[in-house]
Amino acid sequence: MSQVFHLPTRVFSGADCVVKDAASFKILGKKALIVTGKNSAKVTGALADVESALSSQGLGYAVFDRVPPNPGFTEVREAAALARKEGCDFIVGIGGGSPLDAAKAIAVLATNDLTDEQLLTPPFFQAPLPIAAIPTTAGTGSEVTQYAILTNDKLQTKSNVSHESVFPKLAFLDARYTLALPRHVTVNTALDALSHLTEGALANRGTPLSFSLALQGLSQLGPCLKFLSANAEAPLEWREKLLLASNVAGMVIAHTGTTAVHALGYSLTYFKDIDHGRANALTLGVYLTYMGERHPEKVGTMLAALGLPDTAAFRALLDSLLGKREHLTDDEVAKFSSIAIGARNIANTPTPPDVREIARWYRVSLP
Ligand code: NAP
Ligand code: FE
Repeated sequence: MSQVFHLPTRVFSGADCVVKDAASFKILGKKALIVTGKNSAKVTGALADVESALSSQGLGYAVFDRVPPNPGFTEVREAAALARKEGCDFIVGIGGGSPLDAAKAIAVLATNDLTDEQLLTPPFFQAPLPIAAIPTTAGTGSEVTQYAILTNDKLQTKSNVSHESVFPKLAFLDARYTLALPRHVTVNTALDALSHLTEGALANRGTPLSFSLALQGLSQLGPCLKFLSANAEAPLEWREKLLLASNVAGMVIAHTGTTAVHALGYSLTYFKDIDHGRANALTLGVYLTYMGERHPEKVGTMLAALGLPDTAAFRALLDSLLGKREHLTDDEVAKFSSIAIGARNIANTPTPPDVREIARWYRVSLP
């Protein structure tokens, strides 16, 4: 099959872009359901900007502000019912990856009556509502991906709704919204972007074009990570660089998907409540070391893009950002390894690890 690069999201960026480009919301519909978490959309001013942008265009809106971190089926069903009740014909997601992913699932459920299993197995009967996405964290890149990751209690992991029809139509990158991020969220989300770029560069589904983009993203993110490791606060200039690198990383995984690191991370989030980005970063060092031994040329190119001499320096940078690592018991290692080996991302990993190797990665990374 030919290699395809397709990104249907119009990305606006720069200070005040939501208000400056308010007219663009008109192509989406007449009434929005604004989807957010509890506080951050309000605290950052992003919600106020969206409300004033929509009002300036004569567009109506209702607000659903109850998306928790790592949302599941219950919350997105509740919001979709509100979208129907209010007659909303488009969705605006504001927040970290959690509200942005929820916005996508809500867009599907607003127009389709589906079981949880049907939501996870597109295509859908009806087109989802169109979506605009406004990130307030710099890490998931969800504003430019066709993925919505939902907590799946039935399978005790996180499951992926993946379909072209949930790509946001619009994305607005205004780094001022990320200024209020607590240090640990800044770091964890930046590390999520690092795992997207690292895994995306190596993924079996990658192409020369996605690899070029991944290298570009790594060269943007490398200095940001060094800055974060040396400084407690990140001013606007660095927030802008981080948001851009995270967006590029999103474009990469939209084409490549993720690999074993994300597969291992899901249990760490589900059972140990470790933030998504940190959950990935914990095993990223051992992963790149393993890949470096098997694909030295490619990994060497990636490290050079990051501005690092070798995988030891990569691990040292991770260590400085992660601090003290969590511990897994032998039972947890066995359980999480058996879950991870069944994940789809494993097949997307070059020279994929077997279950013993996955157990080793967990043991080394969470000693
Ligand atoms: P998040 O779960 O969206 O948010 C984490 C916390 O940060 C929340 O308490 C949130 O508060 C707060 N927060 C967000 N923006 C803030 C700001 N500007 N200032 C202060 N606090 C802020 O975190 P995330 O790491 O961005 O997203 C993780 C989710 O994304 C996971 O479910 C993961 O699986 C998913 N993900 C999706 C993709 C994709 O391609 N779709 C890729 C990677 C990860 P509020 O609750 O008040 O908003
Ligand atoms: Fe991720």
